[in-house]
Amino acid sequence: MQLQLLPTSHTFFTRFSLSPFIHRNPNMTSGSNSLMWFRKGLRIHDNPALEYAAKNSNHVYPVFVIDPHYMKPDPNSFSPGSNLAGLNRIRFLLESLVDLDSGLKKLGSRLLVLYGEPSDVVIRCLKEWDIKRLCFEYDTEPYYQALDTKVKNYALENGIEVFSPVTHTLFNPVEIIEKNGGKPPLSYQSFLKLAGEPHWSISSPPSTIPPIGDLGNLEVSEVPTVEQLGYQDFQEEYPDPPLFKGGESEALRRLKESTNNKEWVATFEKPKGDPSAFIKPATTMLSPYLKFGCLSTRYFYQCIKEVQQEVKNHTSPPVSLIGQLLWRDFFYTVGFGTPNFDRMRGNTICKQIPWNDDDELLAAWRDARTGFPWIDAIMVQLRKWGWIHHLARHSVACFLTRGDLFVHWEKGRDVFERILIDSDWAINNGNWLWLSCSSFFYQYNRIYSPISFGKKYDPTGAYIRHFLPVLKDMPKEYIYEPWKAPLSVQTKAKCIIGKDYPKPVICHDDAIKECKRKLAAAYELNKKTNGVVSDEDMKKLRRKLVEDQGQGNDSRRLKQKLI
Ligand code: FAD
Repeated sequence: MQLQLLPTSHTFFTRFSLSPFIHRNPNMTSGSNSLMWFRKGLRIHDNPALEYAAKNSNHVYPVFVIDPHYMKPDPNSFSPGSNLAGLNRIRFLLESLVDLDSGLKKLGSRLLVLYGEPSDVVIRCLKEWDIKRLCFEYDTEPYYQALDTKVKNYALENGIEVFSPVTHTLFNPVEIIEKNGGKPPLSYQSFLKLAGEPHWSISSPPSTIPPIGDLGNLEVSEVPTVEQLGYQDFQEEYPDPPLFKGGESEALRRLKESTNNKEWVATFEKPKGDPSAFIKPATTMLSPYLKFGCLSTRYFYQCIKEVQQEVKNHTSPPVSLIGQLLWRDFFYTVGFGTPNFDRMRGNTICKQIPWNDDDELLAAWRDARTGFPWIDAIMVQLRKWGWIHHLARHSVACFLTRGDLFVHWEKGRDVFERILIDSDWAINNGNWLWLSCSSFFYQYNRIYSPISFGKKYDPTGAYIRHFLPVLKDMPKEYIYEPWKAPLSVQTKAKCIIGKDYPKPVICHDDAIKECKRKLAAAYELNKKTNGVVSDEDMKKLRRKLVEDQGQGNDSRRLKQKLI
């Protein structure tokens, strides 16, 4: 298979013909029924779609559609949750809906929850309630692009006005790509240059929302509980109460708490900050709220700007807090303008690398059984909290891919996508591309050590002891490499390596050499073919790598050294 070339300006805009602006119906009378379709943007503050729906309507129907496909328990998944989402995220979403419902009630309305495939349900609502105006936040994710095209087409064919503003990001990705001649900017600096300063003002929340009209024959429910969705006996897996309580009220409370500390906001500097800090994590922890739009990114941006005006000496992008929000917009823009952004094959900005498909190594990584305590502790935190620090994400993503296990980044991406509460299509894919040296960042010789990186921040291993209690009595000399502890020490620590805690799945020193060797060969091939790597080229490269090694399946060989 040959890779496609980058889209030209023409193909880009044909593909994304769904304009994020207003499609007015000149014959529409004011005072008619409006439907406010919530998906993300689960908030009252800075919500232009809601503000618009509330104006000039007799009735406003605020709707959220629960797609059983997304929410239904999957007993075969590796942790509680549905096939697509871990329970932490499902719970967070339901809490956010309860909070939204209570916010709407204060304004004289309420949230109408319906079940089914979202586009079918919304089209039924449009018909049944005689809707004349459909309002929803524009979304750049491929899933929503497909969904929205279907609903929008129906609406436009039936004379329904559609209002779909871009409010999930600071900038409109379409405009940035247009300014760049139809291609997304591929570096942060070029993105900043094109973007300039954002031009919007925060939308005022409506003081009241017109009442809901007749519900006709549609079955409308209250927000369900996780138990009502079919989840039982899950408590012991998760901290109680949950670390992240979903909803706009909690988002605004946390934002206030963060921005009250003006000095901290002004001097925020990433990648400084301790990934092992778990009692008071080093960053805002607002990502789950931004993901679901419980917090407006624009409002967050404005609050930081206000702090910066007061505290004159402040950090700047890319390391500042504003810089972090701009990274978010950067990945949204590249993700939107790059065909097959979430894949290696067919993705022209992604290096073609002969990753392995070793499900055994993948499962060891996912289930915190690699035998490297720093990596396993992070994976336990991820599963329990649904959130980990940015550098912790770096450590485990590097370990799974280019650092040690050489497993395909798409497989790690899938695990993150399912269990992160803040799981975000553009940001997650963008960062996996980055960490695996597939795109954006290419210094594959710079590897996060699964031993010394964590030790730098946490020499006594408090983080490991917290998330891996089996190692709580291991002396600090061995906490990052317990397999080196003499048997007497293991016995005293009540943790025999290979019995109570696994031996390392791989020899790190050998693995990094192997990974570098393969990446060097893959980079050379990508250079030689100008990035157009055919299936045949890839097969040849795999064969050559095995021959050079002369020992058959390399990941098995490395594994066998220690197990
Ligand atoms: P803060 O440092 O307080 O930053 C504030 C906000 O800026 C974040 O909430 C987020 O919206 C944005 N931001 C921060 N760092 C980045 C970044 N590198 N790229 C884009 N936006 C950023 N973030 C997600 O929101 N969802 C994901 O699915 C996700 N997957 C990731 C996968 C990998 C492999 C890596 C390395 C990073 C990923 N990130 C993801 C980015 C980043 O780690 C998180 O946004 C951040 O750790 C969230 O914590 P915070 O809210 O305290 O961040």
